[in-house]
Amino acid sequence: MEPTKLTLRLVTPDRDIAHEDVDFVQLPGLDGYFGILPGHAPMLTELGAGVLTFRAGGAQTFASVAGGFAEVLPDRVILLAEVAELGEDIDVARAQAAQERALKVLQAKAEHVDFQVARAALERSLIRIQAAKLAGQSGMKHTPRGIVAGERPHVEKSAASTAEKK
Ligand code: ATP
Repeated sequence: MEPTKLTLRLVTPDRDIAHEDVDFVQLPGLDGYFGILPGHAPMLTELGAGVLTFRAGGAQTFASVAGGFAEVLPDRVILLAEVAELGEDIDVARAQAAQERALKVLQAKAEHVDFQVARAALERSLIRIQAAKLAGQSGMKHTPRGIVAGERPHVEKSAASTAEKK
Protein backbone atom coordinates (compact mmCIF):
# COMPACT_ATOMS: atom_id res chain seq x y z
CA MET A 1 0.00 0.00 0.00
CA GLU A 2 1.23 3.51 -0.80
CA PRO A 3 2.32 5.48 2.27
CA THR A 4 0.13 8.51 3.05
CA LYS A 5 2.69 10.36 5.20
CA LEU A 6 6.39 11.10 5.17
CA THR A 7 8.51 10.97 8.28
CA LEU A 8 10.73 14.02 8.03
CA ARG A 9 13.99 14.14 9.91
CA LEU A 10 16.29 17.17 9.79
CA VAL A 11 19.60 16.90 11.61
CA THR A 12 22.91 18.75 11.64
CA PRO A 13 26.16 17.49 13.20
CA ASP A 14 25.18 19.39 16.37
CA ARG A 15 21.43 19.15 16.58
CA ASP A 16 18.27 17.22 15.89
CA ILE A 17 16.10 19.96 14.41
CA ALA A 18 12.90 18.26 13.29
CA HIS A 19 11.43 14.77 13.44
CA GLU A 20 7.79 14.46 12.54
CA ASP A 21 5.18 13.11 10.15
CA VAL A 22 4.37 15.43 7.27
CA ASP A 23 2.35 15.47 4.04
CA PHE A 24 4.78 17.31 1.79
CA VAL A 25 8.42 18.38 1.75
CA GLN A 26 10.16 20.85 -0.52
CA LEU A 27 13.93 20.74 -0.28
CA PRO A 28 16.73 22.70 -1.93
CA GLY A 29 18.85 20.51 -4.19
CA LEU A 30 21.99 21.74 -5.93
CA ASP A 31 20.09 22.64 -9.10
CA GLY A 32 16.82 23.82 -7.63
CA TYR A 33 13.94 22.73 -5.43
CA PHE A 34 12.37 19.25 -5.22
CA GLY A 35 8.80 18.72 -4.11
CA ILE A 36 8.29 15.36 -2.39
CA LEU A 37 5.02 13.60 -1.65
CA PRO A 38 4.50 10.24 0.09
CA GLY A 39 5.34 7.36 -2.24
CA HIS A 40 8.22 9.21 -3.93
CA ALA A 41 10.84 7.04 -5.63
CA PRO A 42 14.01 6.50 -3.58
CA MET A 43 16.59 9.20 -4.22
CA LEU A 44 19.83 10.44 -2.72
CA THR A 45 20.71 14.06 -3.39
CA GLU A 46 23.11 16.75 -2.28
CA LEU A 47 21.54 19.71 -0.52
CA GLY A 48 22.14 23.21 -1.80
CA ALA A 49 21.51 26.38 0.15
CA GLY A 50 17.86 27.28 0.39
CA VAL A 51 14.62 27.20 2.33
CA LEU A 52 13.28 23.80 3.36
CA THR A 53 9.49 23.73 3.59
CA PHE A 54 7.39 20.99 5.12
CA ARG A 55 3.66 20.77 5.55
CA ALA A 56 1.63 18.79 8.06
CA GLY A 57 -2.13 19.31 7.81
CA GLY A 58 -2.56 23.05 7.35
CA ALA A 59 0.70 23.98 9.11
CA GLN A 60 3.79 24.89 7.16
CA THR A 61 7.27 24.98 8.67
CA PHE A 62 10.26 26.71 7.11
CA ALA A 63 13.94 26.15 7.77
CA SER A 64 17.13 27.47 6.25
CA VAL A 65 19.46 24.72 5.08
CA ALA A 66 22.98 24.95 3.62
CA GLY A 67 24.90 21.94 2.37
CA GLY A 68 24.67 18.26 3.22
CA PHE A 69 22.67 15.35 1.86
CA ALA A 70 19.08 14.19 1.67
CA GLU A 71 17.82 10.64 1.40
CA VAL A 72 14.30 10.27 0.07
CA LEU A 73 12.37 7.02 0.54
CA PRO A 74 8.67 6.41 -0.17
CA ASP A 75 7.78 6.94 3.51
CA ARG A 76 10.58 9.22 4.76
CA VAL A 77 12.91 12.10 4.04
CA ILE A 78 16.15 12.33 5.97
CA LEU A 79 18.19 15.50 5.70
CA LEU A 80 21.73 15.50 7.02
CA ALA A 81 22.46 19.21 6.73
CA GLU A 82 25.75 20.94 7.40
CA VAL A 83 23.89 23.92 8.85
CA ALA A 84 20.19 24.42 9.36
CA GLU A 85 17.86 26.43 11.54
CA LEU A 86 14.09 26.55 11.85
CA GLY A 87 12.79 29.89 10.60
CA GLU A 88 11.41 30.72 14.02
CA ASP A 89 14.84 30.17 15.66
CA ILE A 90 16.71 32.48 13.32
CA ASP A 91 18.24 35.60 14.76
CA VAL A 92 17.38 38.04 11.98
CA ALA A 93 19.65 40.82 13.29
CA ARG A 94 22.58 38.40 13.25
CA ALA A 95 21.74 37.34 9.68
CA GLN A 96 21.50 40.99 8.62
CA ALA A 97 24.88 41.72 10.20
CA ALA A 98 26.36 38.70 8.38
CA GLN A 99 24.81 39.97 5.14
CA GLU A 100 26.37 43.42 5.59
CA ARG A 101 29.78 41.92 6.38
CA ALA A 102 29.66 39.68 3.32
CA LEU A 103 28.53 42.53 1.07
CA LYS A 104 31.35 44.75 2.31
CA VAL A 105 33.88 42.02 1.54
CA LEU A 106 32.43 41.45 -1.92
CA GLN A 107 32.32 45.16 -2.71
CA ALA A 108 35.87 45.79 -1.50
CA LYS A 109 37.25 43.73 -4.43
CA ALA A 110 40.49 43.28 -2.52
CA GLU A 111 42.92 40.72 -3.88
CA HIS A 112 43.47 38.74 -0.71
CA VAL A 113 39.73 38.16 -0.19
CA ASP A 114 38.15 34.74 -0.70
CA PHE A 115 35.09 35.66 -2.74
CA GLN A 116 33.66 32.14 -2.66
CA VAL A 117 33.60 32.22 1.13
CA ALA A 118 32.00 35.68 1.14
CA ARG A 119 29.45 34.64 -1.49
CA ALA A 120 28.50 31.53 0.52
CA ALA A 121 28.15 33.65 3.69
CA LEU A 122 25.96 36.13 1.80
CA GLU A 123 23.81 33.30 0.48
CA ARG A 124 23.35 31.80 3.97
CA SER A 125 22.39 35.19 5.39
CA LEU A 126 19.80 35.83 2.65
CA ILE A 127 18.28 32.37 3.07
CA ARG A 128 18.07 32.86 6.83
CA ILE A 129 16.28 36.17 6.40
CA GLN A 130 13.88 34.58 3.90
CA ALA A 131 13.15 31.55 6.13
CA ALA A 132 12.57 33.81 9.16
CA LYS A 133 10.22 35.98 7.15
CA LEU A 134 8.26 32.97 5.88
CA ALA A 135 8.04 31.56 9.42
CA GLY A 136 6.73 34.91 10.65
CA GLN A 137 4.17 35.10 7.88
CA SER A 138 2.86 31.59 8.54
CA GLY A 139 1.99 32.67 12.09
CA MET A 140 2.44 29.11 13.41
CA LYS A 141 4.77 27.96 16.12
CA HIS A 142 6.59 24.76 15.29
CA THR A 143 6.35 22.03 17.91
CA PRO A 144 8.94 19.33 17.38
CA ARG A 145 7.81 15.82 18.19
CA GLY A 146 9.56 12.54 18.69
CA ILE A 147 13.10 13.80 19.16
CA VAL A 148 15.03 11.42 21.34
CA ALA A 149 16.90 13.35 24.02
CA GLY A 150 20.64 12.98 23.88
CA GLU A 151 20.63 11.46 20.41
CA ARG A 152 23.49 12.89 18.37
CA PRO A 153 23.49 12.00 14.74
CA HIS A 154 26.83 11.93 13.01
CA VAL A 155 27.30 13.63 9.67
CA GLU A 156 30.57 13.43 7.77
CA LYS A 157 31.51 16.80 6.31
CA SER A 158 32.90 16.53 2.82
CA ALA A 159 36.25 18.25 2.27
CA ALA A 160 34.76 20.31 -0.54
CA SER A 161 31.85 21.68 1.42
CA THR A 162 33.98 22.36 4.49
CA ALA A 163 36.46 24.27 2.34
CA GLU A 164 33.66 26.43 1.05
CA LYS A 165 32.96 27.67 4.54
CA LYS A 166 35.37 29.90 6.41
P1 ATP B 1 27.60 34.30 11.46
O1 ATP B 1 28.69 35.08 10.75
O2 ATP B 1 26.49 35.13 11.98
O3 ATP B 1 28.16 33.30 12.48
P2 ATP B 1 27.54 32.18 9.54
O4 ATP B 1 26.82 32.05 8.25
O5 ATP B 1 29.03 32.28 9.44
O6 ATP B 1 26.91 33.40 10.33
P3 ATP B 1 27.40 29.42 10.16
O7 ATP B 1 28.87 29.12 10.19
O8 ATP B 1 26.65 29.04 8.93
O9 ATP B 1 27.18 30.97 10.47
O10 ATP B 1 26.69 28.76 11.42
C1 ATP B 1 27.32 28.62 12.69
C2 ATP B 1 26.25 28.25 13.69
O11 ATP B 1 25.45 29.39 14.00
C3 ATP B 1 25.29 27.19 13.20
O12 ATP B 1 24.92 26.37 14.31
C4 ATP B 1 24.09 27.98 12.70
O13 ATP B 1 22.90 27.22 12.79
C5 ATP B 1 24.08 29.16 13.67
N1 ATP B 1 23.61 30.41 13.07
C6 ATP B 1 24.25 31.17 12.15
N2 ATP B 1 23.56 32.28 11.88
C7 ATP B 1 22.43 32.21 12.61
C8 ATP B 1 21.29 33.08 12.76
N3 ATP B 1 21.16 34.22 12.08
N4 ATP B 1 20.33 32.70 13.62
C9 ATP B 1 20.43 31.55 14.33
N5 ATP B 1 21.47 30.69 14.23
C10 ATP B 1 22.47 31.03 13.39
